Amino acid sequence: MPELPEVETVRRGLAPALEGRRILRAHTRRADLRFPFPDRMAERLSGARVNRLGRRAKYLAADLDTGETLIMHLGMSGRFTLGGEGLASFVHGAGGDPRHDHVLLEIEGGTTVTFNDPRRFGFFQLWPSAGVDTYPAFAALGPEPLANDFSGAALAEAFQGRRTPVKTALLDQRVVAGLGNIYVCEALHRAGISPRRQAASIGTARSERLAEAVRAVIREAIEAGGSSISDFAAADGGLGYFQHRFEVYGREGEACRGCGGAIRRIVQSGRSSFYCGTCQR
Ligand SMILES: [Zn+2]
Repeated sequence: MPELPEVETVRRGLAPALEGRRILRAHTRRADLRFPFPDRMAERLSGARVNRLGRRAKYLAADLDTGETLIMHLGMSGRFTLGGEGLASFVHGAGGDPRHDHVLLEIEGGTTVTFNDPRRFGFFQLWPSAGVDTYPAFAALGPEPLANDFSGAALAEAFQGRRTPVKTALLDQRVVAGLGNIYVCEALHRAGISPRRQAASIGTARSERLAEAVRAVIREAIEAGGSSISDFAAADGGLGYFQHRFEVYGREGEACRGCGGAIRRIVQSGRSSFYCGTCQR
């Protein structure tokens, strides 16, 4: 499942093709993905100009001049590709089967944006732009890791009284938005904090270190174009390479680059946690 850096990579790939341009015509090739498409979605999108393509956590949000925002989620296997005049044909370039092309946007200037999703856990919603913060999935989200309101102090406050492991607390989207399993494992390693430590026991100094580690990991992963795990591909069909820089994720039994000890794997809340028992306390 794509996490924040992968979604941000997709946003950066799509933005130049969409921002300031009109969607000449939208097509939906079925009635639903994970949820039914919004009522008359293709009609409501056709003719709309995209003012800005933003992102909130793992959601893309296209602010339209119709007063609506198109909210898009990649789900497990969703992928946007760009095709058309003046572009190398990236459509299906990364193995997307055209039978799974579910949404097509013909953009002014000759570009076509295609949403391909074999497993169909992705979804699209239209929501009034004026109240986009009240979109249910957004209303419950904590701060973005790269925004100013995310800090060690904010983390310390969110961890107060939490008896769950810090790993589980960091996956809570109300604590910080958009973090998933991979980057939580990596950030905890970088901060030298065991995923098993109780959230409430993380003091001020550790919270500062952890917030800085989260920001650094996310920033570096975005710069690397995300991580290529399973079938994620960036909007241009290219693959990110941050997975080559994982210190712990997926490295069970391999040597910790910090101390040479073996990376361990445990299961917490049904998810694998990878960590070094020596470097992380
Ligand atoms: Zn170590």
